[in-house]
Amino acid sequence: MGTRKREAPPPAQARAGMKKELPEQFRDYRHVWVFIELERGQVHPVSFELLGEGRRLADQLGVQLAAIILGPPGETTWHAVAEAFAYDADLVYLVEEPLLTDYRNEPFTKALTDLVAAYKPEILLLGATTLGRDLAGSVATTLLTGLTADCTGLDVDADGSLAATRPTFGGSLLCTIYTLNCRPQMATVRPRVMRMPQRSNKPIGRIIRHDWRMCEEEIVTKVVDFLSDGRSENANLAYADVVVAGGLGLGTAENLRLIKDLARTIGGDYGCSRPLVQKGWMAADRQIGQTGKTIRPKLYIAAGISGAVQHRVGVEGADLIVAINTDPTAPIFDFAHLGVVADAVSFLPALTDAFIRRLAPANRLKLVN
Ligand SMILES: Cc1cc2nc3c(=O)[nH]c(=O)nc-3n(C[C@H](O)[C@H](O)[C@H](O)COP(=O)(O)OP(=O)(O)OC[C@H]3O[C@@H](n4cnc5c(N)ncnc54)[C@H](O)[C@@H]3O)c2cc1C
Repeated sequence: MGTRKREAPPPAQARAGMKKELPEQFRDYRHVWVFIELERGQVHPVSFELLGEGRRLADQLGVQLAAIILGPPGETTWHAVAEAFAYDADLVYLVEEPLLTDYRNEPFTKALTDLVAAYKPEILLLGATTLGRDLAGSVATTLLTGLTADCTGLDVDADGSLAATRPTFGGSLLCTIYTLNCRPQMATVRPRVMRMPQRSNKPIGRIIRHDWRMCEEEIVTKVVDFLSDGRSENANLAYADVVVAGGLGLGTAENLRLIKDLARTIGGDYGCSRPLVQKGWMAADRQIGQTGKTIRPKLYIAAGISGAVQHRVGVEGADLIVAINTDPTAPIFDFAHLGVVADAVSFLPALTDAFIRRLAPANRLKLVN
């Protein structure tokens, strides 16, 4: 894949040389935990993706998979409990406390670090969302343990260590990072990097309710109100079934309406490559790629995008990639399923018109699995 190389991780034997004996106080750390992100009553889908990944790691290690749910007493928290079992958790650690209604770093860090201290997991996974990144960093620094952020691959080595792989050197290399001498081994993973597992009808199982208290007076941050940034429609780009994106090849900011028109016509969302964000042509939360969003749509149309490795890593999970580019040697044609060598500025309106004619009156693309 382009210039991206995976350095072979040192074999367990070689690492044994680097590895000091795991300190006594960490030896009884066991089981895999996934933090279930609840924001304003909704479970973030990345939590289910992590339960799928956590299941695989727990089975490899022969241990249990636990979901960690911190929330206010009531229906939304219990809905998250039921969903955690439906996505194959073996048990749920539950803290129900009104202070945990809206995310604030201090109470969530305290509750999660208290849980870790009480029940000792060997692996703790969180989504690399805004909330997850904030929480994972403070939990890792409070516990003085290692955290590998934005992982693209997780595995268990022969010696039972978590092998957390992530891009490095601007995405041109993948490195595998180990937390050898501390516990838990922590990792965050961005939404859509891991596959969504199948949901089952598994009934609610074992729940460990942890009695936890903190006083409002101990918390510096107060939630006063939620204000829209006027861009909340963007939130679904990572989970859209159809995405149309534009790159520098579109030439001007005005030409971005061509990808928006096509996206609207086929019931999709739109995004862009990084230089368009740098030019101020599109908002940062529309950027797709290594430092933007990872997407896994059924259909991805890239217009005027060269297919640099940092863009590729964000889109290669798409079922069908269609690239429109004037240069037949553009790297995007190395991984696109369908390629159109054409000027996107004239091809996009023609494609949109063709869809309008074909899809009328429904005007929506029906994609079959
Ligand atoms: C640390 C790091 C992180 C990065 N993160 C990201 C990221 O998250 N996402 C990302 O996208 N990039 C990222 N980049 C930047 C990345 O390396 C590329 O520079 C970027 O993706 C290129 O954007 P582009 O394809 O739009 O532009 P270009 O590379 O300039 O490509 C434009 C393409 O348009 C074609 N073209 C020109 N005219 C037309 C036309 N009329 N019709 C059709 N095609 C045409 C050209 O042939 C060319 O292939 C990152 C870089 C670094 C160093």
